[in-house]
Amino acid sequence: MMLSFNNYNSMLKNSQTYFTVRKMCLVVLLFLFAYQQTSFSQERDDINQFPKLLLNQNSKSDQDNNTDLIIKECHQLAQSKNYDLILALVGKIYNYYLKNNNLNELDQHCLNLKDKNRYFEYATQSVFYEKSIAKLRESKNPYTIKFMNFFNSKFSDYEKPLFHMSKGIADLDTLKIDAGFHREKNLILIDPFKIKPNEWMLKFTHELVHALDDRLHEASKVFGDTTLTPKLISLLENPYYSIETLSPELQEFLPHWIYAGLDLGLFGEYRAWVIVAQIYYEEVSSQNWQPVDWFNERIGYTINQDQFKNTFRANIYYYLNSHSPNPEIGILTRPELQKKINDFRNDSKANLPPLYNLEFN
Ligand SMILES: [Zn+2]
Repeated sequence: MMLSFNNYNSMLKNSQTYFTVRKMCLVVLLFLFAYQQTSFSQERDDINQFPKLLLNQNSKSDQDNNTDLIIKECHQLAQSKNYDLILALVGKIYNYYLKNNNLNELDQHCLNLKDKNRYFEYATQSVFYEKSIAKLRESKNPYTIKFMNFFNSKFSDYEKPLFHMSKGIADLDTLKIDAGFHREKNLILIDPFKIKPNEWMLKFTHELVHALDDRLHEASKVFGDTTLTPKLISLLENPYYSIETLSPELQEFLPHWIYAGLDLGLFGEYRAWVIVAQIYYEEVSSQNWQPVDWFNERIGYTINQDQFKNTFRANIYYYLNSHSPNPEIGILTRPELQKKINDFRNDSKANLPPLYNLEFN
């Protein structure tokens, strides 16, 4: 899914390697998603959201009017091919959403028009992306400014990260997540119907950081090496084949391969959350973004800025590491490989994983 081997499936079909590579595909899925899914997921955090949700009920009558008005406009434009009018309406919907209104309250004439009016789908993706980028660009906070300079050095107005936003994205639904970054396709996937309004900027920015992370691309090349990876798997699939008998080339490759798996999964998530936490800290402190209680807890948010800066990276690593079980499938069930994974993970407790090109300040 995030890093599949479909590219060379055809090449490998009908060979024995094909089957091991298919199996590997599964391993990769688990490797990545064990981390992704448990990373900073929200199920248990719903309880923390109640006070805020109750607060939001206060201006209910205003909101009701807005909802009705927006739905009325959606009905008027349901068949329209006037893209400018649809863009303007979706702009209103974006603002409505960020004011703590659940998108599901808008009936299906507004956003989920895949089959009825594709213009709505194009407009929604474009408006949600552009307005969120604009919100980051407007920030006067020093770290966010640095981040957006870094972003601008990678992506211009004409060259955007691949971004797919919709209600019900199969890749996300299967994994029961609301947003994700497809490592192989370099594609941001996001389902705003599943994301609480106060979490939108946090999750949008998190996926944006993945798109800027060069190490993800490098690690997927190593992990999916078309020559060495299939060799390694086919040999180590035999439980009686010992690692010591691997060729020197494969012995040297093995730790890089394991580390690349971690760089795609656990360490990749760590890098993204470290960058996002710094942006979030400034934006929440200056009341540009809404606070997210479960995230405050994970990063150890405190108004004491020095204390926060000294502790948040370790807090993030500690949380992710303790909530991400090792994948146990295929050759990764071998105790020697489990040990290698654990060694890298434990080393990283003392020496937190490097940020590579994301160390932009
Ligand atoms: Zn992520």
